[in-house]
Amino acid sequence: MDLLNTLVDKGLRRELPTREEALAVLATSDDELLDVVAAAGKVRRQWFGRRVKLNYLVNLKSGLCPEDCSYCSQRLGSKAEILKYTWLKPDDASKAAAAGVAGGAKRVCLVASGRGPTDRDVDRVSETISAIKEQNEGVEVCACLGLLSDGQAERLRSAGADAYNHNLNTSEATYGDICTTHDFSDRVSTVQQAQAAGMSACSGLIAGMGETDADLVDVVFALRELDPDSVPVNFLIPFEGTPLAKEWNLTPQRALRILAMVRFVCPDIEVRLAGGREVHLRSMQPLALHLVNSLFLGDYLTSEGQAGKDDLAMIADAGFEVEGTDTTTLPEHRRAGCGGAQPAADAAEAPAATVPAPSDETRRDLVAVRRRGAGTDLPPNA
Ligand code: SF4
Repeated sequence: MDLLNTLVDKGLRRELPTREEALAVLATSDDELLDVVAAAGKVRRQWFGRRVKLNYLVNLKSGLCPEDCSYCSQRLGSKAEILKYTWLKPDDASKAAAAGVAGGAKRVCLVASGRGPTDRDVDRVSETISAIKEQNEGVEVCACLGLLSDGQAERLRSAGADAYNHNLNTSEATYGDICTTHDFSDRVSTVQQAQAAGMSACSGLIAGMGETDADLVDVVFALRELDPDSVPVNFLIPFEGTPLAKEWNLTPQRALRILAMVRFVCPDIEVRLAGGREVHLRSMQPLALHLVNSLFLGDYLTSEGQAGKDDLAMIADAGFEVEGTDTTTLPEHRRAGCGGAQPAADAAEAPAATVPAPSDETRRDLVAVRRRGAGTDLPPNA
């Protein structure tokens, strides 16, 4: 297939595909799926070998957010019966983080609900970062606290935060459909503040919210322009009690095509399989390892993932290996800050794509609200 040969050649040269090529990946048929995975897998192996980086989420503060992101179970007005609690104490957060590190995670992601941190919140998180780093040598810490105000990125960096996560989530054109309390440019600005403060930027998307193929390509190209070091790809978990509860738009095959498209657009960037993998990829998860080089181990912020030991078994069975703390994730040319990426080569307008037909198969039974780990008395899943 000429398209796939072209995309492999470009990926091996770290060259950006055109928007038309990215759209064409999303438009491939199920008959072509294994060819698409094999092609994107070549690019993945060129830059990351067979390594899988494990990341572990610690939800420092859960629920009761004043923002209205419609995909989020913690949003204003959410009826989802999630755990709700205020800031974890540094020691408790550190214990939760240690469970993830013991399970093989080399990065701990500290997340808090809310529009953004107060300066007092930044102090709390700084104490938590110190506690985690004291107790877990070599661990990378990423903070995800929402929109940052002036000076907060620098303070987090000084406190030892290696990275900052803030997702773009969807295209600029449709951002107003999923959230009215902040906008796309607020999100871009926070990622840029994190980069300017010397933190590694992590920014990704959520697929399956009713967006078109053109929206997906738009957000991935917008991410590429921001040049983050890691791109988490979430698949919407349609929580009952949220506005998007009925959005069951994804099949495992479509989820794999989306991951392949992200890999072709971000050949040498850490592409992370994030929330919703169990719900939407289901038994096809191991194929995704040929596309991504990173995933979240264990549970998510407000939902439960598959058992951490099953994640490790899946990685080993598929012929991949967990990346150790002695290995640097990014290829050498990307290690000095965020440099090394090629500029966007083609900003031509692409034809609008149609929304895929919704899947008949809604698997609400796979959405399990988190009832263990941080904020509970039960041991975490790692
Ligand atoms: S995504 Fe973040 S800012 Fe938006 S509602 Fe959820 S916790 Fe609040």
